[in-house]
Amino acid sequence: MRGDGIRVLIVGGGVAGLATVAALREWGATVDVVERAPGPTDSGTGIYLTGNATRMLDVLGLAEPIADVSVEIARQRSANQRGRRLFDIDVAALWQGVGPCVSLPRAHLHRALLDGVGDAPIRWGRQPVALVAEGDQVAVEFDDGATARYDLVLGADGVNSTVRRLAFDGQAARDLGQYAYRWVAPRVDDEPVWSVQLGRGRQFLTIPISAEQTYCYYNDGPVADRPGWRDELAETFTQPVSTMLKALDYDDSTLHAGPNQEVVLDSWSRGPVLLIGDAAHATSPNMAQGAAMALEDAVVLATSLATAGSVAEALQGYEARRRPRTDWVLSQTHRRDKATGLPPALRDLVMRRLGEQMFRSNYGPLFAQP
Ligand SMILES: Cc1cc2nc3c(=O)[nH]c(=O)nc-3n(C[C@H](O)[C@H](O)[C@H](O)COP(=O)(O)OP(=O)(O)OC[C@H]3O[C@@H](n4cnc5c(N)ncnc54)[C@H](O)[C@@H]3O)c2cc1C
Repeated sequence: MRGDGIRVLIVGGGVAGLATVAALREWGATVDVVERAPGPTDSGTGIYLTGNATRMLDVLGLAEPIADVSVEIARQRSANQRGRRLFDIDVAALWQGVGPCVSLPRAHLHRALLDGVGDAPIRWGRQPVALVAEGDQVAVEFDDGATARYDLVLGADGVNSTVRRLAFDGQAARDLGQYAYRWVAPRVDDEPVWSVQLGRGRQFLTIPISAEQTYCYYNDGPVADRPGWRDELAETFTQPVSTMLKALDYDDSTLHAGPNQEVVLDSWSRGPVLLIGDAAHATSPNMAQGAAMALEDAVVLATSLATAGSVAEALQGYEARRRPRTDWVLSQTHRRDKATGLPPALRDLVMRRLGEQMFRSNYGPLFAQP
């Protein structure tokens, strides 16, 4: 089916929303985008993209702009909280033939996606306040009082989606009992290595995201924003923790903190309203698959729409194709959280013996095309 005459609304100009605009470019539909933020952001920390994410960026014609502003990661290294190595994976070899693993400032990913959508109009500072089914269409009311009818509404508005609240009986995200802190610090070495230290139910992670910057991630228990978190982090883990924390004394403008949440739904659509990306299937970030799944959603949805006979048939086909993959990621993130929650001596034993094998099997099914 061609998209000519079809009106699509995309709610959310994040990874899933912008990638979908880019993926639908040739289809012929009229695509409107509303984004709650007042404009493109230059803030945010870093993001790590595995080979299945960069494969989708390549499909969208963005491989080069991303390569220009990212660091290609060669290895993922896991150690215990005293810095003793548990396992070390050559991820460049692991994802060979799929795509490079890269890390970059989030703002650069956003900017590349924005460039990829060309002149598609984005209405910044806008969001829907009501969605009402009218036959095969949806009548949408926006917060500026405007109304419009669409043949397809995509909720690409993230883990705490408004579209999900308005059209899916208010189903909320589930708290995973982890509170995450992220910030950017000066880079202290030349190695293109993703590196984690595992504590019990806590992790401290560093990834270079440019020639000058390192992205730091720390998650601990469920209690939000405890004043003593920096001291606890410094006491629990070994270097480069204290160096990375010191950067916050000079500049904490990049510090982001918030709970890790997941979304599990029986169905992603209600009539012609479909949830994609985190709005449909957010998980713990421990596999770094959130952006990859959002990018795959965009590409698969565009193919489903182009090959189906109707919007309803496309949404059915899309969900049937995407479910096994997002369910796999969800189950593997649970396995990983369980393994890192083991008592340290047992965890170290398991990770030294089986860590590499577990890591490979976590990602194995994602090497195939989505
Ligand atoms: C701590 C942490 C670390 C992570 N690290 C990684 C990583 O290294 N690699 C990785 O692949 N993934 C990572 N993720 C996951 C990744 O960030 C998400 O999976 C990804 O951003 C999902 O894209 P999205 O477009 O669905 O949602 P988002 O990127 O959240 O975009 C949603 C957009 O919708 C907008 N919006 C929200 N509400 C409305 C509304 N009512 N109306 C209009 N617009 C609205 C928002 O402003 C935003 O622009 C991490 C997540 C967390 C929590």
